[in-house]
Amino acid sequence: MAIYDPKSLKAEEFINDEEIKETLEYAEKNKRNVALIDEILEKARPKRAEKGYTCAGLSHREASVLLACDLPDKIEEIYKIAEEIKLAFYGNRIVLFAPLYLSNYCVNGCVYCPYHLKNKHIPRRKLTQEEVEREVIALQDMGHKRLAIEAGEDPVNNPIEYILDCIKTIYSIKHKNGAIRRVNVNIAATTVENYRKLKEAGIGTYILFQETYHKESYLKLHPTGPKHDYAYHTEAMDRAMEGGIDDVGLGVLFGLELYKYEFAGLIMHAEHLEAVHGVGPHTISVPRIKHADDIDPAAFDNSISDEIFEKITACIRLAVPYTGMIISTRENEQVRSKLLRLGISQVSGGSRTSVGGYAEEERPHDTEQFDVSDRRTLDEVVRWLMENGHIPSFCTACYREGRTGDRFMSLCKSGQILNCCHPNALMTLTEYLVDYASEETKKVGFALIEKELEKIPNEKVKGIARQHIEDIKNSNRRDFRF
Ligand code: SAM
Repeated sequence: MAIYDPKSLKAEEFINDEEIKETLEYAEKNKRNVALIDEILEKARPKRAEKGYTCAGLSHREASVLLACDLPDKIEEIYKIAEEIKLAFYGNRIVLFAPLYLSNYCVNGCVYCPYHLKNKHIPRRKLTQEEVEREVIALQDMGHKRLAIEAGEDPVNNPIEYILDCIKTIYSIKHKNGAIRRVNVNIAATTVENYRKLKEAGIGTYILFQETYHKESYLKLHPTGPKHDYAYHTEAMDRAMEGGIDDVGLGVLFGLELYKYEFAGLIMHAEHLEAVHGVGPHTISVPRIKHADDIDPAAFDNSISDEIFEKITACIRLAVPYTGMIISTRENEQVRSKLLRLGISQVSGGSRTSVGGYAEEERPHDTEQFDVSDRRTLDEVVRWLMENGHIPSFCTACYREGRTGDRFMSLCKSGQILNCCHPNALMTLTEYLVDYASEETKKVGFALIEKELEKIPNEKVKGIARQHIEDIKNSNRRDFRF
């Protein structure tokens, strides 16, 4: 039997089934243990430090107790602390991105995904480099600067060389004042050598969802294809780090397995990365299973309510305070609105989940990976964020300035965010407003920028940011950053 060891490089030792089961028992036993819960909440709370704030985070056991807790006043407190942490480390900024589907060829048999090999009624499509260019121009014309590229796993149709060619094409396109400045990559688990190639191609985060941490379920949900190999998939982030990628993004597809099990596994995975590589995950995504061609979400009986989903999000925020959290357009406006208050720091906007969907006038459905719930345009999402007190940010400065991995985490902890990320957000928002926004969005945006500039504590930084914002308004100069 595998023994739990967060420092091990073996999947079944750092995501240890016995340890998860014991954690869930411990959490169940203590779910109304007010003294313990108060102690855990106190530990999670952000504390004032010499510069900015510090936060201790929580172990998977502590966080699981909070997730199990059903005392309404304590749950309220969890939500309050989640918002405090979000504001302490990420301020009121929300980073925007869009997925770009390159190819839906796939040799895997994932039973929840419409791209599975046996699905014969979806057309298979793979973008040529000319088509990638068209998609990127359409995305730039919306105002996007940051993409997450997505592809099925198919060594013949989508080899690493194809992915690398696409990345090169994406970065090379400069259309009007547009540019894609950060390409995150969500492709199947691969080799150290391929991760090295992705790193050399200048990717931002490497994202790979675990789908489920429950090995037995994993094997059933991925009955065929290379993804069937649980250990190879679960150990992928260690190979990515070995290949030099220090920003990695975790995620669970909620609905496949019991959420408490997944939650403990997810936090254990974060602990493992920290223990072995000295840096936790850059992001955590919280996708929920959605209807898609050939996929009925009702066939998966572990679906979670909006309330549970909110609680999971808030508990992740408390457990890993320095990790960004991502929510996609799988969720509708109401759910997104609530989650933004509980710790989410990145959202997608104006997304199309089909191969070639951005260049087409009408939203195409035939090659979609899942139904999109939030169908608003990017302009509508940007305005909505601002009307709800958030600053939409198109910033990509950190990774372009080499602030990745633990250097990003240090910035997060240093209290310099208001002198760095805040002006960067305002400058990139100005770019968006000047180049792409509707008149109504411009009005809301420029008023917000005026107000938010005042929050920059360092007078010199404030002056420079003001000057750059004027430059963006009055010229074609772009891409200023701290
Ligand atoms: N093929 C790659 C892989 O295996 O990791 C890349 C990404 S896939 C295009 C992106 C993610 O979409 C998957 O990891 C999965 O969690 C999610 N997904 C698949 N089917 C879904 C569905 N029906 N509803 C919601 N999300 C789904």
